[in-house]
Formats: sequence, structure tokens, C-alpha cells
Amino acid sequence: MRSFSNAGGGDIVLAIAQRIVENRGYLSDIDGLIGDGDHGVNMAKGVSLAAERLRGEPKTLAAALAALGDVLMTEIGGSMGPLYGVMFTGFAEALDGVEAIDAAAFERMLRRGLEEVQSIGDAKVGDKTLIDAFAPALQAFSTTAAKCDDFAAALEALIAGAEKGRDSTIEMVAKIGRASRLGERSRGVLDPGATSCAIILRSLAEGAKAKLDPSNPSNAREAQP
Ligand code: ADP
Ligand code: MG
Repeated sequence: MRSFSNAGGGDIVLAIAQRIVENRGYLSDIDGLIGDGDHGVNMAKGVSLAAERLRGEPKTLAAALAALGDVLMTEIGGSMGPLYGVMFTGFAEALDGVEAIDAAAFERMLRRGLEEVQSIGDAKVGDKTLIDAFAPALQAFSTTAAKCDDFAAALEALIAGAEKGRDSTIEMVAKIGRASRLGERSRGVLDPGATSCAIILRSLAEGAKAKLDPSNPSNAREAQP
């Protein structure tokens, strides 16, 4: 079973932060259509604060995710601070003490994060929230990992599942959160949280996949046959 080391994984969180910052304007623009236009600004502020704390100090993936969760939970308002705060904290807790992260550990991490978000937010698939990107992404990861025992293929499935799920929110009417006040008028545009969630899951999966690649010299020690 292929795996990558938790010890060498902290930089994945910096890559997530960078992708969110790059998409700050886009995410706020989408939120402006059915919300208050702060989603990209909130998210970029949170991840930038976390990145500042992480930079220059090599951390395990678990520790870096914990630092990000902590900053989002304590410093960022809106719906997303607490929701993504508990998601990243859940990811971190699931990886705590794990040395080699294989597909099974990665799946436990995702599942724990999803459960945490649902435990505080109570959203279900179809409510037009980040759950509509996350739940199908996890489902696709699990199905592929179980079917072909290929971690890299499961990571690809995760990305595809998240983006398909994100796109499915266009046709949905928001049932929860600020956009739900719009009723039918929330139909026809992407959900901002589902969009940021797809960005996060893509960079998490791409970061993990790069670490699995034995042709990447920095992974020579970590990658397993
Ligand atoms: P706010 O709505 O407070 O302005 P943001 O703009 O940062 O917060 O985030 C909006 C996003 O939050 C929505 O697009 C939706 O995906 C997500 N969201 C809102 N409420 C919930 C919930 N209860 N569970 C999951 N996601 C939610
Ligand atoms: Mg908003």
C-alpha cells in the first residue's frame, strides 16, 4: 500500500493557503451573488494568518492542519471560520500519531472532517453548501480506493468528485445559511462554500499525490513500493 509520511506533509497546508489566496476575489464575487460577498476575504485572511505561523517551521501534516483549524476557529468570523475550523481540526485529530499516511488513513481523515462539519452545521447533501462538494468527494475516494487499491487513483477521484459536486450546487436552492433567505433566487449560481471546498480538496489531493510519486527525489525515502 502506498503512503507518504506525516512528518514531511506540513507544506501541503501552505499550498492550500496559497490556492485560497489566489482565489480570494473569485470566491468573494460568487458569495456576492447569493450572500454578503465576504467568503474569499474571510478565507484568505484565515489561511494567510495560519501560513504566517507555519512558514519556516517544518511541521507534520497533522500539526499544520491543527494550526490552520485553530486560526480559522478562533480568528475568523462568518459561517466559514467555525465550519472549516472544525473540519481542519478533525483532519488533524484523525492523523495524530499516524506515521505513514496511506489511503485508509487519508479516508479516515476525510470522514472525520466531514462528520465534524455536519455535527455543527447540520447540512445535508442538496442543501447547497460545502457538503455538496465534500460528501461526493469522499464517496468517490472510498469507492475508488476499495475497488482498485490505488491511492493515487483515489486522490484523482476525490478531485473529480469534489468538482462535480461543486457544479451540482448551481441547480440547487439554498436550504441553510445566509443564501437560504433568497429561496428560489439562490438557484442558478455556484455555492461559494462548495467552491472553496473543491479548491481545498484539490490542493490537498494534489499535495498528497506529489508526495506519493517515487520519481520526485524528495520523496525517495518516504514513498513505498
Ligand atoms: P457567511 O454566510 O456567514 O457570510 P461565508 O460567506 O464565509 O459565511 O460562507 C458561506 C458558505 O458557508 C456557504 O456558501 C455554504 O457553503 C457554507 N455554509 C453555510 N452554512 C453552512 C452549514 N450549516 N453547513 C455547511 N456549510 C455551510
Ligand atoms: Mg458570506
